[in-house]
Amino acid sequence: MAVRRGRQFLHTPGPTTMPDRILQAMARPALDHRGPEFLAVAGRCFAGLRAVFRTERPVLIYPAAGHGAWEAALANVCAPGDRVLMCETGAFSQWWKEMAEALGLAVDYLPGDWRRGADPAAVEAHLAADRGRAVRAVAVVHNETSTGVASRVAGIREAIDAAGHPALFLVDTISSLASIDFRMDEWGVDVAVGGSQKGLMLPPGLGFTGVSEKAFRAARGNPTPRSYWDWRAMMPDGETPGFVCTPPVNLMFGLAEALDMLEEEGLEACFARHRRLAEAARRAIAGWGLALNPLDSREASDSVSAALMPEGHDAEEVRRIARERYDVVLGVGILRLAGRAFRIGHMGDLNEPMLLGALAAVQAALAGAGAPHDPSGILAAIDWLAESAGDA
Ligand code: PLP
Repeated sequence: MAVRRGRQFLHTPGPTTMPDRILQAMARPALDHRGPEFLAVAGRCFAGLRAVFRTERPVLIYPAAGHGAWEAALANVCAPGDRVLMCETGAFSQWWKEMAEALGLAVDYLPGDWRRGADPAAVEAHLAADRGRAVRAVAVVHNETSTGVASRVAGIREAIDAAGHPALFLVDTISSLASIDFRMDEWGVDVAVGGSQKGLMLPPGLGFTGVSEKAFRAARGNPTPRSYWDWRAMMPDGETPGFVCTPPVNLMFGLAEALDMLEEEGLEACFARHRRLAEAARRAIAGWGLALNPLDSREASDSVSAALMPEGHDAEEVRRIARERYDVVLGVGILRLAGRAFRIGHMGDLNEPMLLGALAAVQAALAGAGAPHDPSGILAAIDWLAESAGDA
């Protein structure tokens, strides 16, 4: 294979590019995880995560992928036979549903077309019809990474309240945390599920669960057998998070650095940067004449954009050319969108030239694949970045 120079541009919607600061923070010898140096870092991480989740409540850290945090959320608040309401938004809602079923839960799955977010009106109607209050939890994916659609989580909270339903509210923030506005406390989220490899700019390997008081109470009374995921073992007082296992020491040093970086930028500025860069990607896609997957512009994700290929053209060919010729890695079309869509991840440690480089490579790949497109697409992105410079 030809020698490559420069860095590969990783535009999968997670894992995302890791900044040098984080890599350097993790590059350190092993140390005693019961000693004062590590305990200080762990304390910093637990405190900083509350700020990122926008909660006063504890956020637990598992050495685990996002799937682990998904399972922890369900295993702590639900028991086999419990009914859970989920909304079909794409591949990740589908996989979370399958996990819930594997754990013995009965899932009411509100159908969706993969181009819109979870529908507050449908959630309200379903809960209002649940007169026996059998639904134990409502579980929604905030940012559906497979489709580039961000659901309006505040609207789902309003729907639960409007139905006067006591269900717990579980939200997957894995690809929205630290890139799209998310407010655990304000939006009455009982369990917020996160992961390290997206907006937090870390390697995969950390799963998070933010736990409301109501969720912890539910967990305390939940007879479901569980061990590794058990919140009661990780914070017996329901307030003070800790580890039951050997903590992922080096990842925690990386996390502390990521939290420093987010604090320096400020969450609002970080969201604004994501919004502005996402808009550049959307304008390029529209400029090429391709359709953006989300149908409602209020639901267009600021962390990943899914572009639909013209009929008869294979998205995989575009991805292959982008990767092999230009060293730009795009997200694959998943399940229903396989071959039909490619996804441009634009979250985490990203600036204008990185995004423009990736968009230029996508345009070159469209040309290489013989896909019809208007070459002014990249200019639309440049124009937007020029006109909005200073706004973010
Ligand atoms: N939920 C969403 C929205 C995701 O994007 C992902 C991963 O991409 C997951 C859950 C699963 O996370 P993991 O692959 O770390 O298990």
